[in-house]
Amino acid sequence: MLVGEAPGKNEDLQGEPFVGAAGRLLDELLAEIGIAREEVYIANVLKCRPPGNRDPRPAEIDACKGYLREQIRLIAPDVVITLGAFASRLLLGVETGVTRLRGRRYDWWLGAALVPTFHPSPALRGGERVKDQIREDLALASDILASPRESPPVGAPAEGGPAEGGLAEGGAPRQESLFE
Ligand code: URA
Repeated sequence: MLVGEAPGKNEDLQGEPFVGAAGRLLDELLAEIGIAREEVYIANVLKCRPPGNRDPRPAEIDACKGYLREQIRLIAPDVVITLGAFASRLLLGVETGVTRLRGRRYDWWLGAALVPTFHPSPALRGGERVKDQIREDLALASDILASPRESPPVGAPAEGGPAEGGLAEGGAPRQESLFE
């Protein structure tokens, strides 16, 4: 499962995520790890386009996050790849920038692994370095998909229960922002 930021104009008109240039890049990068668009579920943090494509506002994220939570619960993905800062911060419940968050997996809600990476839009402008970092993160996600899912540790919170406490050692940070 992939989680982006918000639909753009064309996505809003067509009711499909990532139909523009960023979506084409995403398709290319997924194809490099042998994954077709039809094999992934794509959701966004916001469910409609912010006017003028401005950044999502906290109240808008709040209004939409229950839908995203239910999408994740229904899809029950093995791996969630968050595209960009808004999705990565919301799902991990942190304020850290995506540059620091990316490059590793987080053991996350419902036993899924979460892999943060850059949004493909800056990658369109940012050139090969950003694309290569997205490639690394997608390769990590692909490796996780190829290995059997580990059972949750004994005493792990049951379904629906956000992890308690702060940044767990090597694990998922607090998730109250999405799961309160
Ligand atoms: N950018 C996003 O974050 N989501 C889309 O669906 C399209 C562009």
